[in-house]
Amino acid sequence: MHRVPTRDRVIFLTYDDGAEKDPRFVDMVRELRLPVSMFLTDSVVGPGYGHFARLRAVGASIQNHTLDHAALRGLPYAGQRAEICGQQSKLRARFGVRPRLFRPPYGTYDTTTLRAAAHCGVTAVVLWRAAMEGDGELTYAKGPRRLRAGDIVSVPSSEPTGLSLRERTTRLLREIQARGLTVGRLEDYV
Ligand SMILES: [Zn+2]
Repeated sequence: MHRVPTRDRVIFLTYDDGAEKDPRFVDMVRELRLPVSMFLTDSVVGPGYGHFARLRAVGASIQNHTLDHAALRGLPYAGQRAEICGQQSKLRARFGVRPRLFRPPYGTYDTTTLRAAAHCGVTAVVLWRAAMEGDGELTYAKGPRRLRAGDIVSVPSSEPTGLSLRERTTRLLREIQARGLTVGRLEDYV
């Protein structure tokens, strides 16, 4: 899914990969009570899971973005299952719960991905309609070039340069507010 069918005036904030581990982002999530969803890739997070435990403690949810950030489409079933189930196991061992949501790296997937994800306990494959990369500009995967109720926004963190997640989130919140929208908790809708 790229967006959630809802009449509620909500936008969903999702953060990919898990490269940036800025404690000030944890402060922001806590202070604003932001219901953010973190889609984590094991090889990107590396030894940095403690940061995401702190985020989780202030209300963030932890979701699956594979072990190694492989482009899954076209890969054999066993390989796709290993990428997805492997990260389910890591996250369950680390946080005590198995994620329900999965985001395929680069948004690329096929029917084999859906089968493998279901086998691994995933109930929804979550894509995005808009993304905010490090340059701070919102780009739209499809549809109108403005935020609408139900949109899922992706904020990837893998590039080493550009604006911090905190800075990008500030920009997003300004845009969300200007449109009369608010931030919703994705897990309450999906
Ligand atoms: Zn990614």
